[in-house]
Amino acid sequence: SDITQKLEQTIRDIPDFPKPGIVFKDITPVLANPEISKAVSEAFLNYWKKAQIDVIVGIESRGFMYGLPLAQGLDVPFVPVRKVGKLPYTTIRHSYDLEYGSAEVEIHTDAIAPGQRVLIHDDLLATGGTAAAAAELIRKIGGEVVGYSFLVELAFLNGRAKLADKEVHALVTYS
Ligand code: IMP
Repeated sequence: SDITQKLEQTIRDIPDFPKPGIVFKDITPVLANPEISKAVSEAFLNYWKKAQIDVIVGIESRGFMYGLPLAQGLDVPFVPVRKVGKLPYTTIRHSYDLEYGSAEVEIHTDAIAPGQRVLIHDDLLATGGTAAAAAELIRKIGGEVVGYSFLVELAFLNGRAKLADKEVHALVTYS
């Protein structure tokens, strides 16, 4: 579609970031272009508006950027998932494996009411470890994960396989 083409033209490849051999997809040129950035928000809203979502969970930090406008457009709460040590109230944590080492994310224990239908949003789906960890946190506090939303999917890393059989949507997919 129109927005997919615009994103393909705007997202920038940064070779060898954050380490040699990795090609990083840089979305900052999207943020810097108000017309395309607004079209991104509209495309997310248009895709999810019929899905009966109660809460948007955005993953630190690039999941906050389009997660909040999506929540506002759907008229539902926005909840952050953050790296450990950032959230001030009572939290639960979940750690997950990375290619080298591990990472840990957390959420406020009162952020989601039992049974609420949650959409997880982040900028980019790579191996799926981060989104799967966010889903684990949501389930631990009683929420129901109904789908996943991304700007970008790196399909060759098969992150979808980690996201059970829930709906996964990305505005642009690299194969
Ligand atoms: P995963 O856990 O392997 O799916 O990695 C996804 C997480 O890493 C997301 O929070 C992304 O923001 C970040 N990430 C991984 N690769 C990239 C990239 O090429 N561009 C932007 N973010 C990335």
